[in-house]
Amino acid sequence: MRRLLKNILLILLLLAISGVAWVGYQFTHPPTLDAYAKLSFQEGSTKDAEVRATFFGVSTLLFEDGKNSILIDGFFTRPDKLSVLTRKISPNLDVIGQSLKRANIQHIDAVIAAHSHYDHAMDSPEVARRTDAILYGSMSTANIGRGWGLPEQQIHVVHHGESVKVGAFDVVFLNAEHAPTGFTGGEIEGPLKPPVRANQYKEGQCFSILISHKGKTILVQSSAGFVKSGLSGRHADVAFLGIGTLGKQTDQYREEYWHETVKATGVKRVIPIHWDDFTRPSNAPFAPMPRPFDDFEKSMAFLLNQGEKEHVEVKFLYPWIEIDPFK
Ligand SMILES: [Zn+2]
Repeated sequence: MRRLLKNILLILLLLAISGVAWVGYQFTHPPTLDAYAKLSFQEGSTKDAEVRATFFGVSTLLFEDGKNSILIDGFFTRPDKLSVLTRKISPNLDVIGQSLKRANIQHIDAVIAAHSHYDHAMDSPEVARRTDAILYGSMSTANIGRGWGLPEQQIHVVHHGESVKVGAFDVVFLNAEHAPTGFTGGEIEGPLKPPVRANQYKEGQCFSILISHKGKTILVQSSAGFVKSGLSGRHADVAFLGIGTLGKQTDQYREEYWHETVKATGVKRVIPIHWDDFTRPSNAPFAPMPRPFDDFEKSMAFLLNQGEKEHVEVKFLYPWIEIDPFK
């Protein structure tokens, strides 16, 4: 009896050790991006672009037309795993400053937080402050702005169906759902003053954002969730499609997500976003989120297969590269 117990304990110990070793291996060996180079945009093609777009990881995206600019989220701090799990976090002013400089961003008209999780909205008020932008988002996002001391006249709470004009850009906010990750829901009820734990950046309202410019429309879907028929009757040409944790969902979920976003809006080009491991600094090479948190390759295989079936082009966009999203 004793011997049996000893053997069981030994097996459990071996299983625990190999589990830890497996997770450690996955962290240090995330999926590579090599296979997607052929899907990437050609550099230097933005000269005649009506709209230029740059991706900075997660769903941080800059859209400019030469006169006005819109930045979704503006998340650059990207605290490491240990900080996120064990410490309080706050915007890193040096990293934000360096990032804005590297991206050659001086003024922005609108900083739009797609939802209020830290990997979207934590840096938004500081970016808005430095660039004299108006911060747009949910009440929770507004409370992140207030906690940071952003003046009230630079904070604008938006609601479902609201449209905002930014020069020639027309931005429409529609309620969306977050991907089912286990970290969803909740509101930030009052001014949130960092440093705070990452989980205090509650989701708030998650938005699908439609950005129209001279007859062409971009859908930004920050998280791989959807509201049934939430986008029906809306049109978009290009979707920046959040795929964070999409690889961990069921086949049926992935199909529904495609149906409710890409198919519902008639999008002809899909550009995945929110695929990167956002606990890596943005000045280091980007890598997909490692297993067991996600399955990037499964998401990409799904998009490519679906795209081929339905004649939707899937492009891969590396961070820090300016592109013409419509070309
Ligand atoms: Zn989120």
